[in-house]
Amino acid sequence: MQALRLDRPALAATAPMRLVDVADLLPGDDELLLRVDACGVCRTDLQLLEGDLAAHRLPIVPGHQVVGRVERVGRGVGDWAVGDRAGVAWLGGACGRCPACLEGRENLCPDATFTGWDRDGGYATQVTVRAEFALRIPDEFDDLGAAPLLCGGAIGYRSLRISGIRPGGRLGLFGFGASALLAIQVARHWDCDVYVCTRSERERERALRLGARWVGGYDERPPVALDAAITFAPAGDVVVAALRALDRGGTVAVNAIHLDRIPEFPYELLWWERSLRSVANVTRRDVREFLEIAAAVPIRTEVEAFPLASGNLALQRLAAGAIDGAAVLVADV
Ligand SMILES: [Zn+2]
Ligand SMILES: [Zn+2]
Repeated sequence: MQALRLDRPALAATAPMRLVDVADLLPGDDELLLRVDACGVCRTDLQLLEGDLAAHRLPIVPGHQVVGRVERVGRGVGDWAVGDRAGVAWLGGACGRCPACLEGRENLCPDATFTGWDRDGGYATQVTVRAEFALRIPDEFDDLGAAPLLCGGAIGYRSLRISGIRPGGRLGLFGFGASALLAIQVARHWDCDVYVCTRSERERERALRLGARWVGGYDERPPVALDAAITFAPAGDVVVAALRALDRGGTVAVNAIHLDRIPEFPYELLWWERSLRSVANVTRRDVREFLEIAAAVPIRTEVEAFPLASGNLALQRLAAGAIDGAAVLVADV
């Protein structure tokens, strides 16, 4: 099989991943072996590539939005068959016994493992997944369209839940990349009024096309006080801008695995029981619920496909902000 392997983090511009030929994988007793048909490119992959997110192990094959077909089934697995379509997302495993797992918050499990960070991921022609963590993909989506839903979509959905936004509420989205593009479609489905702040003129136009009520820059304040806001931009000053736009009792959900410093801000921005919460990973329930909603809306994904061998180029274009929608790697284009 072939895999894009990261041996040492470096700037995307230096093309740090190498396409290597390695022995075919074998599934463990509780695992599935998938042939990879599509793997979405996530900003987290870029942060891992460039070392902003510290590697858990090296070398590593990144990629955690995988859609593939089951090629082999581990001896102890009952409910999957060869040929089934399966998805692999960021959460690669959790212990199932700790207090977080028992409360349904497996995203907080101290022993959680992550695809493309702890386990080799889907920038490859094959991947293994613990069968309990493999996901069924609704028929409404083809492989390319489904891939970006598995992380960007699911974490956007979790961010909506963490933000506490209710149907019909006033929601701010700060930053408008692949994840926000999917979150706005859920929010509009819930009849929320959506206010979008982003630096990019092109992203503002896209937000308006997807039903945003108002668009502006990070330095502009939405015309109404918001019930909730989600920040997608990996910049601490955007978090303060979002806090500034909140109504009393509102919540800012920070959708970022890595963030630079949050600048000092006056306490009055947090006063009146405003909350600031991070969004950490996703649970299987988040992904399943989101896929169901995505099929019902139905959510449209804008995808730019790259051959696996051009994975470095896809990440360079993501770093340059030159991807419309989501980049997806495919075995052959
Ligand atoms: Zn991701
Ligand atoms: Zn656990």
